[in-house]
Amino acid sequence: MCKSSLNSSVDSLAVMKYDPGLGFLRKQQDPSKQNIQANNLTLSVTLAAVLPFSEPPYPNGLPSPYYAPLHHRWQKACCAFISENLTANALEWEREELVPPEIFSKFAAANFLLPSLPAPLLIEWAKQLGLDILARGLKVEEFDYLHFLIYSDEMTGNGLSGPGASLTTGITFGVPPILKFGSKQLLERFIPDLLMGRARSCIVITEPGTGSDVAGIERTAVKSADEKEYIVNGSKKWITNGIWADFVTTAVLTGGPWPSGLSLLLIPLKNNLSIIIRKLVIMGLAASGTTYIEFDDTHVPVENLIGIEGMGIRCIMTNFNHELLTTAIGVTRQARVAVSTALEYVLKREAFGKALVEQPVVRHRLAKVGAMVESMWAWVE
Ligand SMILES: Cc1cc2nc3c(=O)[nH]c(=O)nc-3n(C[C@H](O)[C@H](O)[C@H](O)COP(=O)(O)OP(=O)(O)OC[C@H]3O[C@@H](n4cnc5c(N)ncnc54)[C@H](O)[C@@H]3O)c2cc1C
Repeated sequence: MCKSSLNSSVDSLAVMKYDPGLGFLRKQQDPSKQNIQANNLTLSVTLAAVLPFSEPPYPNGLPSPYYAPLHHRWQKACCAFISENLTANALEWEREELVPPEIFSKFAAANFLLPSLPAPLLIEWAKQLGLDILARGLKVEEFDYLHFLIYSDEMTGNGLSGPGASLTTGITFGVPPILKFGSKQLLERFIPDLLMGRARSCIVITEPGTGSDVAGIERTAVKSADEKEYIVNGSKKWITNGIWADFVTTAVLTGGPWPSGLSLLLIPLKNNLSIIIRKLVIMGLAASGTTYIEFDDTHVPVENLIGIEGMGIRCIMTNFNHELLTTAIGVTRQARVAVSTALEYVLKREAFGKALVEQPVVRHRLAKVGAMVESMWAWVE
């Protein structure tokens, strides 16, 4: 079972037995375990048990019309790899505001970056680069959106967005527009390094004065006199992974009326004196490398256009499907961690001579939010 770092960081003296089939706490016989009296049930506690709401129902035996054996095998593979290589130290890395760079390389070497892309995966590219077999022998052609759901859910299993986001946000949001809309030469120039984890990217839409309202973007890309380059000017803010990115998938105004005035450009960031990059200090997501980027007469070859000029809004809106689904999975998992951590706490915290969980109002609250989390998960599924 995958346990969240937040749950496990709470010094567990009381984790109760949860029967996934029955869905409530069940009496256990082992007299060595601690007992809690609640609602006329004697609850024995065990550290090996699954805390209610702490995990999605499907890996714990509840029936589902969605998951086939290959999804269950994939869940076990993701759980094992992510627990060991991310969850175990996630809290510490979030405090330090940095996930060590070798962890990104580890994910790349184990082919654990590719599952952050939308399904179906690009089989041809994966085969060409020797990335066609994912963990537990899953073939790239078998990878569907449920595999993506499982992977993304496990990536946020630690209850923190920052550490997971530090590894995958760039590839999850920055690479799909290149794969879907990029020309052959663009793919050949950039995709091998990005998929192999030799280079990093990110998505660059938001500006200091423009967030949700993408139509308000002001940064411009004007063609040079010889029409061989775009000259980019303007600022971008709140860019996740920007601090480590080699290339950025960027929304720019190339002229003409909205929405056809918007285009997407792939801009190399490194070793360019016309680009200023600085890390932003933010609340939460501390390890995710949120960045401010300023372009000052930055010259970009016209071959770096993603799709065709004026097609930017279509690329961005298409990409939003995957972005928003990823966000929905992440926030649902975080809500799950919050609820199960609260439940773990009220089991062991005593006030007025009994555990908080014995107070009906506490149980009612947790049951209510637990039901909300499970219904949110059902919608996400
Ligand atoms: C940690 C973090 C990481 C980010 N990473 C990236 C990244 O990698 N790349 C990137 O491009 N951007 C990124 N962003 C920016 C993010 O996409 C924007 O913050 C988001 O689009 C919202 O924009 P805004 O903050 O300007 O808020 P605004 O758009 O100004 O919204 C302000 C308020 O108005 C409300 N509102 C907005 N529009 C409407 C409407 N039509 N109807 C009703 N209410 C509305 C909003 O809900 C909000 O409460 C990141 C932001 C954060 C905080």
